Amino acid sequence: MTNDTACVRIDKGRLWDSLIALGEVGAYHDQDTDLQGVCRLALTDEDVAGRELVMGWMRNAGLTLRRDQIGNVYARREGEDNSLAPVLVGSHIDSVATAGRFDGCLGVLGGLEVVRTLNDNNIFTKRSVEVAIFTEEEGVRFGTDMLGSAVAAGRIQLADARAQVDRNGISVGAELDRHALVGDVKVPIHPPYAYLECHIEQGPILAEGRMQVGVVRGVQAITWLELTITGRAAHAGATPQRLRKNAGLAAAMINVHLNDMVESGDYGQMLATVGRQDNYPNLINIVPANVLITVDLRNHDGEAMQRSIDDLHAYLAEVEKVTGVKITSRTTAQTPPVDFPEQMRDLVEKQATHLGLTCDHITSGAGHDAGEIAALSPAGMIFVPGLYDGISHNPREYSTPEACADGINVLLQAVIELANTTD
Ligand SMILES: [Zn+2]
Repeated sequence: MTNDTACVRIDKGRLWDSLIALGEVGAYHDQDTDLQGVCRLALTDEDVAGRELVMGWMRNAGLTLRRDQIGNVYARREGEDNSLAPVLVGSHIDSVATAGRFDGCLGVLGGLEVVRTLNDNNIFTKRSVEVAIFTEEEGVRFGTDMLGSAVAAGRIQLADARAQVDRNGISVGAELDRHALVGDVKVPIHPPYAYLECHIEQGPILAEGRMQVGVVRGVQAITWLELTITGRAAHAGATPQRLRKNAGLAAAMINVHLNDMVESGDYGQMLATVGRQDNYPNLINIVPANVLITVDLRNHDGEAMQRSIDDLHAYLAEVEKVTGVKITSRTTAQTPPVDFPEQMRDLVEKQATHLGLTCDHITSGAGHDAGEIAALSPAGMIFVPGLYDGISHNPREYSTPEACADGINVLLQAVIELANTTD
């Protein structure tokens, strides 16, 4: 081991080139922004092409690749003592339909850059270092976010995950089998010694405070509901309002009510979004018969989250009474708030400070794989700022080469410390 690993830095240009190259896989021209975007929905051909590219780089860096039963990839750089649990880093490379180049990719390619830097500098660590690529983090295709890491951590059963289907009825299991992505590592996986993930903030806080690095306190609670509203199709001209069972009206009432709940302040820092609304028959002169809406709820406080869910269900009963529709509710995702342990937050802050970077403590608004792996071992996250209010899930998503390198240098130093800790 070289004596002064504190002076070692990653290769900023190489990290950036990797991000740009991966961003070409699944690239499309985005009409809204007139920019090049990325679409690599989980377990599609594009996602698998992205995996192949990254796994090729991992092999070239001398890593040994394994896969688990849900297709998560673990690329291992051997340590000096293989009886010790590895330090795990990583994130995801699947994307939403209108993505930029950074979400998730920074964590995976940053992990790869850490390994490349260790190799270049002949730095050997006591523990192995593994870089993970988690399956279907975004949840946009199969309906449950952090699916791969949740299965790895044991929160979601493998059989349940494999049975999830996309809008065309294609299952996770069928896609895993089609692409031969099922590996022999059993889930839940053996707990790593620690897990660290570097990610773009996806919000405005760091940039507004002119902070270079975010020390992530934890991840807020997320609940996803799918509401099926069943009314009755009727003639728009011949049916009096009082005789209608208007599923569209019910959907609108629910949407407005959710906004009222947020603005009431009674539920802490609650956020609510009706992101999907499918109307049937979706015609100008017919009262909507069936409407499917999704509800995305976020809250820093688990108790307030539960209260908001209970109160929403009470309101749904009221809507049924007022409008005559029937509403069924299905919970498609539910994760509690996660607080990362103090020692991991301290480690990130210490390394950022050593590197001369300004940093602030921040709670993640988005869900992340780290929130799942936190159930297995001490986990932590490093955020880097984004431009344009940290816009994400949009091709305008952008973090500078410097911002990316700052985060990955913190990751590098934290990994070196963790991988040489044997107690
Ligand atoms: Zn992400």
